[in-house]
Amino acid sequence: MTSDFQLHNCLQVISDACSLARKAQKSISHIQQHTKTDHSPVTVADYAVQALIAYKLQSSLGSPVLLAGEEDSNDLRSDDTLAKAVTECVGETLRDITIGEVLDAIDLGSHDATGERYWTLDPIDGTKGFLRGGHYAISLALIEQGQVVFGIMGCPNMSTRLIDPLDIPGEKGCIFYAYKNGGCWITADDLSESPPNPISTRSTPFDNATIRICGSVEWRHSSTSTSKKIAENLEKKSKVIQIDSQCKYSIVARNQADAYVRLPTDKLYVEKIWDHAAGKLIAEEAGAIVTDARGNPLDFGYGRLLQKNQGIVCSSPSLHASILKSIEQLNLI
Ligand code: AMP
Ligand code: MG
Repeated sequence: MTSDFQLHNCLQVISDACSLARKAQKSISHIQQHTKTDHSPVTVADYAVQALIAYKLQSSLGSPVLLAGEEDSNDLRSDDTLAKAVTECVGETLRDITIGEVLDAIDLGSHDATGERYWTLDPIDGTKGFLRGGHYAISLALIEQGQVVFGIMGCPNMSTRLIDPLDIPGEKGCIFYAYKNGGCWITADDLSESPPNPISTRSTPFDNATIRICGSVEWRHSSTSTSKKIAENLEKKSKVIQIDSQCKYSIVARNQADAYVRLPTDKLYVEKIWDHAAGKLIAEEAGAIVTDARGNPLDFGYGRLLQKNQGIVCSSPSLHASILKSIEQLNLI
């Protein structure tokens, strides 16, 4: 993943996916929502974005793509209406694509995330945010030998203008991308801003008295009350920013928050690789530090789950060690 051709293709496919997802979110009242076996919601847009990205990735790479994606086509194969709705949605970008091709493209995402080199995709990260009209991310990353080497993330509701409030969707969204040891960039999700701009995280917090910590909107996904305890322990005021999806990494990368702290409310929950791969590299390459809640590096060498990690701490460098220390002192993990 070093050539300009591949970057160009990745930017184009994420841009197309952002446009598809934005249209789908606007017709939210008609959007079909289903419940997966793990009780999490999935929509036509989740399937359509996975099909679009997998199909285009396969055709641009010119060789079979090894892709660990969140969705599979099982439910669509027993539900014609849903399969047709997904195909119609993909067909707005890929004219003439058939139902069979859409289902096969979705299943390109069935890789077990082992081996030297594979891609991972979360087509709509933060489906609950997507359904309530909030933030969500389209997140794609390339893993080599257990390390994320390239990450790209579309955030269709995150304004390109830093002065815009986070809770109001921008006219245009953002695409962030990063290469390992190669920096991090931002551009508009319609690719109208060219060339992309490099971004970097402040090494010290914006305001010494306050710490802006972001966490999930869904309390089951991470505990935000603990963010307040961490700030108190650091003798700072806290501003808690609740936002869905991996957009949390990008707002630390671009200095709209000082930290993203994810502490599990369910001790048995194991994080999925596609929920963190692209976001983690984007934040790191902007200059933030990312580890799990015990200070261990995130290890993508154990299949589709982050088996060796629990929780996430992503922050500007000057805060990272003290946040980890607070988590330990307060017995939060
Ligand atoms: P967030 O946007 O922070 O609410 O995180 C969304 C992600 O949380 C989804 O993509 C799910 O994969 C993941 N998730 C689902 N259940 C849990 C859980 N019990 N704890 C932590 N994360 C979860
Ligand atoms: Mg997700």
